[in-house]
Amino acid sequence: MAVEMMTTQRKYELPPLPYAADALEPQISKEQISIHHDKHHQGYVTGANANLERLEKARQEGAELDMKALLKELSFNIGGHVLHTLFWPTMAPAGRGGGGTPGGALADLIEREWGSFNRFKAEFTKAAASVEGSGWAALACCPITDRPIIMQIEKHNTNVYPSFRILMVLDVWEHAYYLDYQNNRGQFIDAFWNVVNWDTVDKRLENI
Ligand code: MN
Repeated sequence: MAVEMMTTQRKYELPPLPYAADALEPQISKEQISIHHDKHHQGYVTGANANLERLEKARQEGAELDMKALLKELSFNIGGHVLHTLFWPTMAPAGRGGGGTPGGALADLIEREWGSFNRFKAEFTKAAASVEGSGWAALACCPITDRPIIMQIEKHNTNVYPSFRILMVLDVWEHAYYLDYQNNRGQFIDAFWNVVNWDTVDKRLENI
């Protein structure tokens, strides 16, 4: 029974990139995307699965666990996996699905909340630029008010509003841009606006 439980347990898996690794050049290089996806994202998937296996093993053995430490790691790894899984399809090659301005319901939502796309862009940019250390900027929707809101996530799991639906994310960990932009996070954020896949973001909104 124990073995069967182990083999049928569902695991996290690294999703493939929705485009070729060089598709976002020159905004993001093939090398930068490859390392980010194949090494860093994979690391969170591997880490989350390892954390779950430790839980499972301890249950089978009836062993004690340091729950506080383990759950902190698990939250970090699952957060990393979920956010990266949202990140890759948030982008598309510039001029081929990426860049420009949003349309559809998303454009209306942004207009209603921020008054203009440029005001939203400025606030999102500032949220991303000012993350202390490693983290993310995210556009999310509040399920209580139906209003969009910007989250500034530290690491992968701090300052996340529970149950808010995330529509769009920008990774501003140094591992996301250091090969291409060194310490110039601002240049990376500027480049990101040229590859945002607004159709994907709009579809996420319409599927809430
Ligand atoms: Mn990352």
